[in-house]
Amino acid sequence: MKELIIIGAGPAGMAASIYAVRAGLDTLVLEKISPGGQVMLTYEIENYPGFIEPVEGWQLASNMEQQARRLGVTIESKDVVSVEKYDEIFHVKTTDGAFLEGRAVIAATGASLKRLGVPGESEFTGRGVSYCATCDAAFFKDRVTAVVGGGNTALEEALYLTRFASKVYIIHRRDEFRGQKILQDRVLSNPKIEPIFDTLVTQVNGDEKVYSITLQNKKTGESRELAIQGLFIFIGNTSNTTYLPEQVLNDSGEVKVDMKMQTLMSGLFAAGDLRENSLRQVLMAAADGATAAISAYEYITHKDW
Ligand code: NAP
Repeated sequence: MKELIIIGAGPAGMAASIYAVRAGLDTLVLEKISPGGQVMLTYEIENYPGFIEPVEGWQLASNMEQQARRLGVTIESKDVVSVEKYDEIFHVKTTDGAFLEGRAVIAATGASLKRLGVPGESEFTGRGVSYCATCDAAFFKDRVTAVVGGGNTALEEALYLTRFASKVYIIHRRDEFRGQKILQDRVLSNPKIEPIFDTLVTQVNGDEKVYSITLQNKKTGESRELAIQGLFIFIGNTSNTTYLPEQVLNDSGEVKVDMKMQTLMSGLFAAGDLRENSLRQVLMAAADGATAAISAYEYITHKDW
């Protein structure tokens, strides 16, 4: 039996683990694939304090993991399918049929990128359709590309794509971007970027690879085809919470927490992008993780077991 089981090894899980081991808790971190989380998909981060120059996403993730391991954190590769509580003890079941026991659990499994859900999207994923410019932009050197979305991710990834692509359209369903002003200014002043507002992507077209997308203007209803070779989709996230008890989730599948990151089930905490009202920033995820670990420590040490 562990005192604390942390599920997820992104910034929230890593920060929680660092605080937990430093508080002397017997802690285990479970991670489905490999430590890092969504920050691994980000090229550069320039709003995480402590780095004078922008830090690359993989580097920040790697630093967090190395720091946690140095402090004695154990990270095991396991995919969690459910978390249940029996007689005050949590049973964390994994896909290999095993279950681990813990006195407290911190859920820190983040969020996954949303899909557009249009014809051709799944068919051409990996053949022109991508959800990660940092991973795939280099394949589109001197090619014409399009980004879908109007949030910070779409704007940042569009800017990154301009290092390789000859042209980057940004297709957004409204007439103004949602992302930060500093990013909007950079995007709108970049000669390689052309915004297309009030427009939806309704189909991805291709043979072996993508050759065009079908666009529909929301105001006029008119459709047209736009020739591109790469389509990068950044339209937000959904929380990774299917393994958690329904009673701790809201209608959107996000975890409801109080200021201490305590969910509606005592001893079960949540930290990072999966929680309700998360600002979905690396810094916030790390701060949530620290808060959750301190709360878990208080819960474990004050409870009469
Ligand atoms: P987001 O802020 O939720 O933006 C999603 C964008 O996609 C919105 O512009 C939205 O349009 C559009 N969209 C959603 N569903 C769509 C659909 N079905 N078809 C077409 N467009 C659709 O998501 P995000 O940009 O991934 O950012 C997620 C969070 O991470 C945010 O809180 C963001 O601030 C944060 N983040 C921060 C940074 C940073 O600080 N540098 C970097 C990356 C991400 P509408 O605007 O019309 O809703």
